[in-house]
Amino acid sequence: MANPENEESNKQGRPEFLISLFDLMIRTPQTEVEDQMSEDGKLNPLSNKELDTINKYCSGTRKIPKKDAKNILKRINSGKSFIDRIEFTAPGAKKSIRNELRNKGFNVTSASLGEVCFEILKTFLNKFNDGENSVAPSDLWDNQNTITRLQLVQDVNLKCPLCGQELTKAGEYKAISNYDIVHIFPDNLAIKDKSKFFKIKSAPKDSDALDNKIPLCLNCANLYLENPTVEDYQSLVNTKRRISIESHLAKGLNQLTLEENLTKVIKGLKNIKPDMNVMPISYDAHKVEEKISSDYSLQGTVNFYVMGYYNKIRDEFSNMAGDSFYFDDLATTMKLAYVKFKREKLDQEEIFEQLANWILKKANLEKEYSIAVRIIVAFFVQNCEVFEVENAK
Ligand SMILES: [Zn+2]
Repeated sequence: MANPENEESNKQGRPEFLISLFDLMIRTPQTEVEDQMSEDGKLNPLSNKELDTINKYCSGTRKIPKKDAKNILKRINSGKSFIDRIEFTAPGAKKSIRNELRNKGFNVTSASLGEVCFEILKTFLNKFNDGENSVAPSDLWDNQNTITRLQLVQDVNLKCPLCGQELTKAGEYKAISNYDIVHIFPDNLAIKDKSKFFKIKSAPKDSDALDNKIPLCLNCANLYLENPTVEDYQSLVNTKRRISIESHLAKGLNQLTLEENLTKVIKGLKNIKPDMNVMPISYDAHKVEEKISSDYSLQGTVNFYVMGYYNKIRDEFSNMAGDSFYFDDLATTMKLAYVKFKREKLDQEEIFEQLANWILKKANLEKEYSIAVRIIVAFFVQNCEVFEVENAK
């Protein structure tokens, strides 16, 4: 049956070579179905095709079917065996591949040859999947793509949002990526399933938008691509929402500056003994209860801090008042930070925590000051700037 167009028959022919390249790119089976497919020789969709047909793929007279490209992409591995194979190719062969790629405008060095070839083949498959049939240097993951990946991986703190596994592994010389970026709203939902997913969040206008992308570890990515569940979808939507709230907040809060005097007071708190028998007459003791009326553990904590430190902190600040320090400015900054957290619809305890963490980071304070910072936040709760009296008339 085989009828190769150009004869290299004593060596491995072109079609066999392409099949073996894809073999190297397909990860080991992870499910029973895949085990079976592997046994039947069907894991690589090219392996049961006519050599003549594959030859046409090689010469470009026929496109690799979308379905096949997609199937390989679905099971793609980290590229290690593929890259190893290139690394251990004869130096002469490597050099000629490298020069050929350079002539075509690809940015490749001897050291990056394996990785670049792997990326080219992946991009190739993606292109077939989109109904195209060639790859240009500009299609490869360029800087922009790298930055996008970096951002997405950083957003989830380098951990798989579904199972918590690390998304990168440290090799001896390089970090190895252990993730794939998936579309949050699954691409190929059956019509009957769509409504369930829509209830949580409707499909994005453009499925390639950044907002619809999230990195998952290779295992979760494969499972989600094959069988997306409503629970996982909900969890990914929640993660993305949290990321967007956090980045929103970070942007707003970065513009605020904290008075150096605040840091001084926080650091000084370690040396101040709390008052445990303050006459409540020296401040309005009902304020905290009015402001935090339903979260009793938070109310208790804030009350405790206020009782022990309110007067002392107030005195500290008033002693500092002078040419360059205006307490009102500081109070306004705290109020602004509070308003920003509140706008993100966080509850009181979350706001309290976020404010404390924000001050800690912003003032570049070590963790040992985390309680002192909470005492300061409590001070501002008492001082009218943070939290409003609930159900105020
Ligand atoms: Zn995972």
